[in-house]
Amino acid sequence: LSSLSEPIQFREQSMSIHCSIGIATFPRDTTDAEELIKKADTAMYYAKERGGNVFDFYTEDMNAAIQRRADIEGRLRTALDEDQLVVHYQPQFDLTRGRIIGAEALLRWQHPELGLVSPAHFLPIAEETGLIVPIGDWILRTACQQNALWNRRPDLNLRVSVNVSSKQFLEPGFSDVVRTALHQTGLSPVSLELEITESSLLRDVEVTVNTLRTLKELGVRLAIDDFGTGYSALAYLKRLPIDVLKIDQSFVKALTTDPADATITETIVQLAAGLNLTTIAEGVETLEQLLLLGSYGCNRMQGYLFGKPVPAATFEQWLDKPPFRWMQGDGETPPTILGVNA
Ligand code: C2E
Ligand code: MG
Ligand code: MG
Repeated sequence: LSSLSEPIQFREQSMSIHCSIGIATFPRDTTDAEELIKKADTAMYYAKERGGNVFDFYTEDMNAAIQRRADIEGRLRTALDEDQLVVHYQPQFDLTRGRIIGAEALLRWQHPELGLVSPAHFLPIAEETGLIVPIGDWILRTACQQNALWNRRPDLNLRVSVNVSSKQFLEPGFSDVVRTALHQTGLSPVSLELEITESSLLRDVEVTVNTLRTLKELGVRLAIDDFGTGYSALAYLKRLPIDVLKIDQSFVKALTTDPADATITETIVQLAAGLNLTTIAEGVETLEQLLLLGSYGCNRMQGYLFGKPVPAATFEQWLDKPPFRWMQGDGETPPTILGVNA
């Protein structure tokens, strides 16, 4: 492991290879050669799954974990066809306008036996198997269609944010998928925002720049998700045609308790303003966080304070009757919030 992790110089880049090692022992694990290789393979997958760049000896427990994974993978293959995937919508709030201005579309898997499977459990599998591509296309179309429907109301002008995985984003023809989704659903491109993580933007800069440009020409908005948690290659910010930085929830979470996180957050907002970018804070759960963010000049927010991700029908009700009581003038609104809104 340490020999392989030595950096290798390739053109101007320094690269390093990680590997994962699975070990099965004879005769402890089995006396059958083929079985031995299989068990080493299981241990290798286990090592990979817990982050890679490690080794693991085979144990019987691993089989259960690997089995569960294979089970999820098998079921995921039919999830789309069997209508088990749903999109939930989480409100995005604008402090200056005091209202919901859009939603982030978040994938949910309702399995008849497994129950509600969290994206954290199945997205990595969907990524590895490439299933994320058809699933991602479906989410995009579904979210565009839903938002086009909402925006038929003359008083609404919502923007929907859709997460794009790196595999999906780097797929040739991704911009055509976006173009088609907009065309088929009639959603205005300005009403669509695509969220891409920092790490997937930097995976292949050449392809990234071209795809982002094409998307930009379509008129959609581009956001960097979980900003500040990746490598934060700031030089790229001026090269990439990005519109929005989404401040990661880890910073927002500790905003009122850790001065370092407060400084980082304020700096991101200033950096964005200087580059003519917008910021949106995610994971806002308290009024204190809201006020602090507002004082930094970050006016777009998302988090449990405004509402959890919910089915489209619930979100629609929230448009007329927001779930956050402090907005409805029922006496719960702290005067400071009113001051910010005024
Ligand atoms: P993300 O895009 O950063 O989404 C934000 C996550 O934070 C969501 O988790 C959301 O439910 C959660 N969240 C929102 N507000 C709060 C809050 O106030 N407090 C806390 N503690 N959490 C909050 P979720 O839905 O489990 O999604 C996790 C991740 O899975 C997402 O992170 C995104 O990277 C990925 N994901 C979800 N849906 C999709 C999708 O349709 N396509 C792709 N490619 N990835 C998706
Ligand atoms: Mg997101
Ligand atoms: Mg995020």
